[in-house]
Amino acid sequence: MEKLKAKIREIKDFPKPGIGFKDITTLLSDASSFNRAVDLMAHRYLDMDIDIVLGIEARGFIIGAALAYKLNKGVILVRKPGKLPYKTNVVNYDLEYGTDTLEIHQDAITPGQKVLIADDLLATGGTVAAVIKLIGDMGAEVVECAFLAELAFLNGREKIKDAPIFSLLTYDG
Ligand code: AMP
Repeated sequence: MEKLKAKIREIKDFPKPGIGFKDITTLLSDASSFNRAVDLMAHRYLDMDIDIVLGIEARGFIIGAALAYKLNKGVILVRKPGKLPYKTNVVNYDLEYGTDTLEIHQDAITPGQKVLIADDLLATGGTVAAVIKLIGDMGAEVVECAFLAELAFLNGREKIKDAPIFSLLTYDG
């Protein structure tokens, strides 16, 4: 895991002062690292009962699509407002300053489906908590939320009461 972590570049003070941004593009562009990371994540889900994988815009699309392909499942998208062409269900959620919105196609999930949520990174947990609510309101069940990396020192996990969390790589500080 340390080898994979070493492939993620940290950019200090991006997008604003005080934030250490985990830039996963350096891991994604390295064939063996990307392959290994996806294989390790997918391996965990091979024997789990999953109907579909959900990717959160934008880096979650990359992780989610790769996992879905490996697991031989379809992939569905949660996007920022105004991007999805068909009728959508919407969730608003609080950020540190202000609010944000995410959307999903109304027919992306059917009630009772078992969904694996995928994103690149768990920080405060606000985004994934909103996605859990969005698809829970549609009658679907979250099997797990899978992240390539987690900033454990932000305690995002504590915000997620309704679904298990898995992250391949953990940063403690
Ligand atoms: P959060 O809602 O705080 O868990 O933030 C989750 C989303 O913001 C993820 O989809 C990440 O892509 C992005 N994000 C938040 N903090 C960072 C960070 N320090 N480095 C890279 N991405 C981040």
